[in-house]
Amino acid sequence: IKKIGVFTSGGDSPGMNAAIRSVVRTCAYLKIECVGIYRGYQGMIEGDFKTLDARSVNNIINKGGTILKSARCEEFRTKQGRQKAYDQLIKEGIDAFVVIGGNGSFHGAMLFHEEFNFPVMGIPGTIDNDILGTSYTLGYDTAINTVVEAVDKIRDTASSHNRLFFVEVMGRDVGHIALNAGVGAGAEEILIPEQNLGLERLLESLKRSKASGKSSSIVIVAEGDRTGKNVFELKEYVEQHLPIYDVRVSVLGHMQRGGNPTCYDRVLASRMGVKAVESLLEGKSNYMVGIRDTKLVLTPIADAIKAHTEIDEELLRVSDIMTT
Ligand code: ATP
Repeated sequence: IKKIGVFTSGGDSPGMNAAIRSVVRTCAYLKIECVGIYRGYQGMIEGDFKTLDARSVNNIINKGGTILKSARCEEFRTKQGRQKAYDQLIKEGIDAFVVIGGNGSFHGAMLFHEEFNFPVMGIPGTIDNDILGTSYTLGYDTAINTVVEAVDKIRDTASSHNRLFFVEVMGRDVGHIALNAGVGAGAEEILIPEQNLGLERLLESLKRSKASGKSSSIVIVAEGDRTGKNVFELKEYVEQHLPIYDVRVSVLGHMQRGGNPTCYDRVLASRMGVKAVESLLEGKSNYMVGIRDTKLVLTPIADAIKAHTEIDEELLRVSDIMTT
């Protein structure tokens, strides 16, 4: 392998730039060429390439988003689209690529490897932490810290006015952000897709906490929760059934995807980038780099995209105890 392409694909997440930097610098260190592919698979199909050297990635380790831009690309889902992408890579002399993205991006990479026997390596970049084979995806640690900081601020106003706040957080169909940030921010209740305890229990819990003298309450709601009600409907429901509360809603939204990556995400990105390039040079392909118990591990992409990481049962129990 003499020339490695690197790109970001799907939703962006903090730490992607740190991972790009790491891939570029590892290539420079090992004296192989590195090419940045702009706008994910779309740019691959269009041949939107730029050679990157160690100096091209100065001052990006601290930045959210992705300097290579990200995109979704329908054409890459078709065989013809992937053929165009392959032709562009061959024309540019790219021997292998590192894809930084989520489940969909990995799925595309796996098909590409199978169809053209092209070496590919994945780095998990998504705030949702929903990829099997890694305890942390890039951006997840930053996102939960962003949520905790926001909820701390909401708590100040909640307690000044004796209010109940429903705070909706991201996470798509998993509850990792909600559970971890919820425990970290001391939430009253945490509603996640993995555990639907029903609305009755929510009312009971809110009644109990009011009776016990709590002046304010924060309920964290994962966007994919299964109560069947969104945060605004939850507000109405509680106001109807428990008029003792003055209820407000806050949807944190895309602020959770931005911001400077935490030290943890920067270090993880740096480690994953080195591992991805070195693994390709060792002749490995069609794997995702992940972290488990502080050690970097490779998981076949086919396994990584099969299922979501399960919710931490022990943390669920801790959360139950903390909300007593
Ligand atoms: P996020 O965590 O933001 O969802 P993602 O990588 O899962 O990131 P997707 O939009 O699902 O984001 O996928 C990104 C791109 O990967 C798609 O626009 C498409 O080009 C490609 N892709 C996704 N699924 C497939 C598939 N089944 N076959 C081929 N290519 C795919």
